[in-house]
Amino acid sequence: MSRLKEECGVFGIYNNKDAATLTALGLHALQHRGQEACGIVSCDGNNFYSEKRIGLVGDNFTKSKVLEKLPGKFAIGHNRYSTSGNNLIKNIQPFFADLHSGGISVSHNGNLSNARHLRNALVKDGSIFQTTSDTETIVQLIAKSKRTNIINKIIDALFKIQGGYALAILTNKKLIGVRDPYGIRPLVIGKIKNSYVLASETCALDIVGAQFIRHVDNGEIVIITESGLQSLKPFPKLKERPCIFEYIYFSRPDSIINNISVYEYRKKLGAELASEADVKSDLIVPVPDSGVPAAIGYAEKVGKSIELGIIRNHYVGRTFIEPTQKIRSLGVKLKHSINKALVKNKSIILIDDSLVRGTTSVKIIKMLYECGAKKVHLRIASPPIKYPDYYGIDTPSKKELLASRYSLEGMRKFINATTLQFLTIDGLYKAMGFSKRNSSYPQFTDHCFTGDYPVEPIDANRINIKKNKVSLMLSNS
Ligand code: AMP
Repeated sequence: MSRLKEECGVFGIYNNKDAATLTALGLHALQHRGQEACGIVSCDGNNFYSEKRIGLVGDNFTKSKVLEKLPGKFAIGHNRYSTSGNNLIKNIQPFFADLHSGGISVSHNGNLSNARHLRNALVKDGSIFQTTSDTETIVQLIAKSKRTNIINKIIDALFKIQGGYALAILTNKKLIGVRDPYGIRPLVIGKIKNSYVLASETCALDIVGAQFIRHVDNGEIVIITESGLQSLKPFPKLKERPCIFEYIYFSRPDSIINNISVYEYRKKLGAELASEADVKSDLIVPVPDSGVPAAIGYAEKVGKSIELGIIRNHYVGRTFIEPTQKIRSLGVKLKHSINKALVKNKSIILIDDSLVRGTTSVKIIKMLYECGAKKVHLRIASPPIKYPDYYGIDTPSKKELLASRYSLEGMRKFINATTLQFLTIDGLYKAMGFSKRNSSYPQFTDHCFTGDYPVEPIDANRINIKKNKVSLMLSNS
């Protein structure tokens, strides 16, 4: 079974005559969360309708002939991002299953850290899987539950799964939203007149003209029916630990989290970086688009302004989207070009939000030097990423993460920067409004920097144990 990690965006709408069209718009606003494929399932109260496509929402769901095939006042949708290259049409969400209790459709943002383990048990028990996605495990668990009503079946399944998840679930009478017990992945509730909306981020509410109501709490199930919104909290109460990466990179800058825009958070990260690691330079240049807010915050802090020393071509997808390293590096070149006249003979502070494999920095720094830059001081508005993610963000395995392979000086040499500094973990928490990281119960899910995984990555640990056993056997032989 190939392993799929998904970041993804979800959307759902209840009781609106334009349900499918508004879902397409919502998915369009969430396009940054996944660009490989998209899908919408609608329901007219009796029947379900499903349309799934490879590619962007705007290229697939704007044409009325597709939207006409999605009648009904209820709909959920999904943008998909996978990293394994296993971009099979059957893995495109929302998934649909005809259960004994009626039809059910599921959209999932996140990654289950015990999906493989659960799947093995389900398969042993006779389940027949149609896809390689961990989301199908959720559907299978719901189907297998012996409880009678659908909400209890869902709760049954939720008690078995672990990891990061935000779900939008549709039955013929209900729209259901769920966030994992730590609230690792985001989900918000909005309203357009009498229609409730669920979305991964507030930017999807804005596009459909929905008013933001509130976030779905960590560990909360919201059930939207004709009689309104009901909330259930079946899990033991935990403090929320949202994924820090939503703030650093993943969410759209105009989305609002806890009354503060992601843009503002990113500017604060940049300002904190400036207090920690400023250096004399001629220009402050962001890596567009991801480094722009942090660079603005940095420049404001040191009383300068940013300069667009790198120009981004918006007609290529995110660098990460390409499955192989070779194509990925080419992607960086296609995506960025240097403003030669500006950078020539200049000493530059180059700012990006994060450094993962180093692909972007290596290419951009090389291009800057080729265009005559004298010095390039790379400043990263988050700490070094040393640990992989298992809850739905695409970070590669440990051996591919630059910060886990090299020391700071090793990384600097690898990317050929004049100097290199990352924001410290304390600086990160300061920028997020805390005096420091609460080491006994961190305010965020920050394992990428700290290795502190709030939920045991069961699948990954078992694989590692197996691998270790094999290498042990090999070294003994
Ligand atoms: P890399 O080129 O591998 O060092 O990745 C760093 C670049 O990718 C930065 O410009 C980030 O904005 C961006 N990035 C960081 N995390 C992710 C992610 N999970 N998916 C896609 N891009 C990312």
